[in-house]
Amino acid sequence: MTVTLPLQKLEEEIIQLISERGKLILENQEEAKLTMDQIEKVNDGPYDTVSIQKLFTQLDERFYSKKDTYLYSRDYQRDDTIIQVKKHWIGQGEPVKIMGPCSVESEEQVRQATADLARRGVKFIRGGAFKPRTSPYDFQGLGIDGLRMLSDAARIHDMAVVSEIMSADQIETALPYIDIIQVGSRNMQNFELLKAVGQVQKPVLLKRGLSSTMKEFKLAAEYILAEGNPNVILCERGIRTYEDATRNTLDISAVPILKQETHLPVIVDITHSTGRKDILVPTAKAALAVGADGIMAEVHPNPSVALSDAKQQMDLSEFHDFMDAIEKFEQHHSL
Ligand code: PEP
Ligand code: MN
Repeated sequence: MTVTLPLQKLEEEIIQLISERGKLILENQEEAKLTMDQIEKVNDGPYDTVSIQKLFTQLDERFYSKKDTYLYSRDYQRDDTIIQVKKHWIGQGEPVKIMGPCSVESEEQVRQATADLARRGVKFIRGGAFKPRTSPYDFQGLGIDGLRMLSDAARIHDMAVVSEIMSADQIETALPYIDIIQVGSRNMQNFELLKAVGQVQKPVLLKRGLSSTMKEFKLAAEYILAEGNPNVILCERGIRTYEDATRNTLDISAVPILKQETHLPVIVDITHSTGRKDILVPTAKAALAVGADGIMAEVHPNPSVALSDAKQQMDLSEFHDFMDAIEKFEQHHSL
């Protein structure tokens, strides 16, 4: 094609320049790209700087999808991600237990729970202070006061605190009291929240969405990783199916799939997946047997008066029986 008009000539030159730019990027020179500020300085209109930056990003997306190196993938990182939280480790080989009440309800409640959990070597205490409840009229959690109670109780026993936050604007006030930020099932695809927790320096426990596929789950984790937070823990917590014998259907195959396809630690929430106390021991064993890096379960000193999930929480004596069974299993398993 012979180009005669000035605009066509100019566009032809732009295409050639863009191609040259692409070749440089493919030679791994992408770190030398202009920053937003630099584009701003060079740009004197009429297009705005954001549009120009977006144009570059859009062009480069092709390379990323062609390389298919998602940050969560084993292609990107072959070795397992090991996460340090205080003096404790996740993904290092020894499965962790994250236990505690569904919701923080009082100082006494969390103190009682942590004392027994600590006695059995549980290093991570969970407890919701910002609760994602189905009904707006149900107990919504104690908010920051609850987090303060939880972190005070945890500190006595050197335990790490795991608690959910539901929106980006809770992060700043909640962070001093939380060691691992939980992003709940209902927020797995709250992309703004994922981006916000991606910018934080604390690990994130990401729960699988109620009806999410493996791909959607992994891409939700990618949002956090892409913002620069490498410490993401994936949590299988059951999915919605037609089956109503359990609260959700525990997708046990998710564990080996996620372990194979990502380098992130994977844990299983045996309480919210089953909603049944009578099958916690076998499901915990199953989770550990397929390679989970830990299990989560709800424990409450007096479940009958619990303000949320009363039926599915273990009381302290059930918790001790549970630990007896799991310790026995773990000893046998590691032989
Ligand atoms: C929880 O762990 O407190 C919780 C609400 O679980 P999920 O987000 O998996 O329903
Ligand atoms: Mn619960």
